[in-house]
Amino acid sequence: MYNDNPTLAGLQKEIDEDRQGEAFYQDVINEQEGSKFFYIESYGCQMNFSDSEIVASILAENGFAATRNMEKADLILINTCSIREKAELTVRKRLKIFDALKNEKPGTLVGVLGCMAERLKTKFLEEEKLVDLVIGPDAYRDLPKLIATAEDGDKGINVFLSREETYADISPMRLDSNGVSAFISIMRGCDNMCSFCVVPFTRGRERSRNAFSIIAEATDLLNKGYKEVTLLGQNVDSYKWENPESGEVVNFANLLEMTALVHPKLRVRFSTSHPKDITDEVLFTMKKYENICKYIHLPVQSGNSRVLDLMNRTYDREWYMNKVRRIYEIMPDCAISSDIIAGFCTETEEEHKDSLSMIEFARYSMSYMFYYSERPGTLAARKYEDDIPLKVKKRRLQEIIKLQTAISLERNQEDIGKVFEVLIEGNSKRSDQDFKGRNSQNKMIVFPKADGLKPGDYTMVKVTDATSATLKGNIVG
Ligand code: SF4
Repeated sequence: MYNDNPTLAGLQKEIDEDRQGEAFYQDVINEQEGSKFFYIESYGCQMNFSDSEIVASILAENGFAATRNMEKADLILINTCSIREKAELTVRKRLKIFDALKNEKPGTLVGVLGCMAERLKTKFLEEEKLVDLVIGPDAYRDLPKLIATAEDGDKGINVFLSREETYADISPMRLDSNGVSAFISIMRGCDNMCSFCVVPFTRGRERSRNAFSIIAEATDLLNKGYKEVTLLGQNVDSYKWENPESGEVVNFANLLEMTALVHPKLRVRFSTSHPKDITDEVLFTMKKYENICKYIHLPVQSGNSRVLDLMNRTYDREWYMNKVRRIYEIMPDCAISSDIIAGFCTETEEEHKDSLSMIEFARYSMSYMFYYSERPGTLAARKYEDDIPLKVKKRRLQEIIKLQTAISLERNQEDIGKVFEVLIEGNSKRSDQDFKGRNSQNKMIVFPKADGLKPGDYTMVKVTDATSATLKGNIVG
């Protein structure tokens, strides 16, 4: 329908171009006979994808069935990201598409969820007239009531940030799942106030989920045939839950161990960490269990201490380098990846070079790399001038990407000749004659299929070739 409208089709093409490399889009599974249909798509971090699974579960409990077909939906939901300006622009473009659909099918409700909903609140309703629902990350239980409000012709809005909500009792509806690996949200919010970040404002204070409900979910996934779980949180390694009955405190290292003990063939991963909470206890627990994957995402953001101080990252260059040394000391085969921001406020050329030399020092397996995007309401937006010209930001980012790509290739080439246990996730994107899967270090490996193997099986693969993003190999033994 909107495809035959040149403006909207053009817009869709733009959005598709925007999306290159951004993991964001998701339509739901297994259409069921139900009274009403919902359609949901998600943008941004894995937390948002997991939240969409909670939303889907709440809607399924309230008479909604899922559809992949937006035009069939009675309710269209978009779970939004606010981390960079570009993410919000993409959402606004998407809303224009929904507007056309709504004009075609009056009565269709459009709802905005997630961080952009929380950041803009009622302003969203003023700016985007087509929007019927604005619901923040802690208010999804309120969905059925707000939908009823909107069906009566009013606007439904709830952007209350909670200090308790973890949705622990809601079993997520696994969306777009490969049936092999799944995410388990273990905590919400973030108490770190990194000066460039909106998350503390859009997701509230940290709260950790009941440890037993997490282990129950991991066990349930195992029984359903899943072979890998990723423990998820904005700041996952500051997890801390106090058992209200016994007063016993479960910290992140304890939770990692409890999850590893669910079953030796259930792989355990976690994301995202703040370097300050990666303790020796966590590292030795990772070393103790083979099924805890030897991979840590350790965002550095900058390689320069003055810039790190402006970012309020609570560590400096030396401290972070010692943490990296400690990880490689305890687990020499551990892979580390990172996040790096180019062109933060007042960053000099010399300080930019510190970020480059940090990449050379840490030899990350890969990194997520962006140039600084000022976010309204953050500490940096209030205190510092966004004074690095866009041209310089982009040039510095290109230098960071070029260096990181070269190091990723070197690290992958060092794996040629090695044999890894790989968990098969499915067919390779390029050929259905090949399987794809990851090793413990979170590296994707592509290899020719063999009879009798299927997604969810482990197999041993010898690496024969490498690019900066992927390893290639053959099954051995
Ligand atoms: S740790 Fe910092 S960057 Fe990460 S979510 Fe929290 S405030 Fe944002």
